[in-house]
Amino acid sequence: MSTLIPVINWYKKNKRELPWRDTSNPYLIWLSEIILQQTKIEQGLPYYLKFAEKYPTIVDLANASTDEIMKLWQGLGYYSRAENMHRTAIKIKEEYGGKFPNIYNELITLKGIGSYTAAAIASIAFNEPKAVVDGNVFRFLSRLFAVDTPIDTSKGKKIFEEIAQELINPQNPGLHNQAIMEFGSQVCKPKQPLCATCIMQLQCKSLQLNKVNQFPVKQNKTKVKNRYLNYLFIETENKQTYIRQRNDEGIWNKLYEFPVIELDIRTDNPIHIINSPTFKSLFKNKKIMLDLVFQNKHQLSHQTIFANFWKVSGKNIKIASNTDFTMISINEINSFAIPRLLERFLNSILPKV
Ligand code: SF4
Repeated sequence: MSTLIPVINWYKKNKRELPWRDTSNPYLIWLSEIILQQTKIEQGLPYYLKFAEKYPTIVDLANASTDEIMKLWQGLGYYSRAENMHRTAIKIKEEYGGKFPNIYNELITLKGIGSYTAAAIASIAFNEPKAVVDGNVFRFLSRLFAVDTPIDTSKGKKIFEEIAQELINPQNPGLHNQAIMEFGSQVCKPKQPLCATCIMQLQCKSLQLNKVNQFPVKQNKTKVKNRYLNYLFIETENKQTYIRQRNDEGIWNKLYEFPVIELDIRTDNPIHIINSPTFKSLFKNKKIMLDLVFQNKHQLSHQTIFANFWKVSGKNIKIASNTDFTMISINEINSFAIPRLLERFLNSILPKV
């Protein structure tokens, strides 16, 4: 247990001052943890401040509409986090009287709360000695003890969770957890760790073996799939366009988008779009013109999206009535939650519309 006391002392002197630190409010801790999953602090901080101001309690968040929440989340990515956060807020309001459950075993049953987030809330808000294991902790522990079990395997996860749990300081688990995460992020960094000045030099096995760069070990590289999306930006004579809300549990669920045609190839030839079955089912008009007006590459963790935006013009363009598209004024579009990809397109054309 005493192994990590220097890290806790380091944290007390060197931690970055952040609004969710030094609070024991489980709602604010949860909010920060969800926002910071797969997101850098600099990017997540403004979102945390916006959410905490607009929804100061979990009941305020539960009472908001999904559309409002998605709009506030716009640009942060991994949108299922926002949806799960809203569902959990509603559940806590309705089933727990608006009070967060105060033990790990109950927290982990809530939607969007995995072992990491449950341990963070339980330890920081309720002083339960549960170790958190995030990417920073994996990296730091794997280097400190030169553990070569791949961190992206269930065996690796179990081993690191056990090591972290053995090390936890039961007197102050919240402080302990925050200290290790901060140390991993600021000193034992992914690239160019600060070994030359590190307070853990004497204990660090990978440093002694001169193998710091070989840890943490990973088994698989993420396979990235290419996708080719063709968005149809329809501009009617009255400056209106068509959008719909995604409802497929996939990426960007609950966000709004233009009609989109996915193809197996990247193309700048409008014939490929016009001949696609989706296009034929959308439009009955015979004389439609397509102009490629914007292209963008969008990187997600498992997908690279090559997007083409086609401006659709012609006389009396209408989308088939048996679809779920709604016609809106083009100027209204910024009031809807949309993926960042569409935001980029709109920024490129809106002044000209
Ligand atoms: Fe990490 Fe280097 Fe410190 Fe070891 S000596 S804990 S590898 S920063």
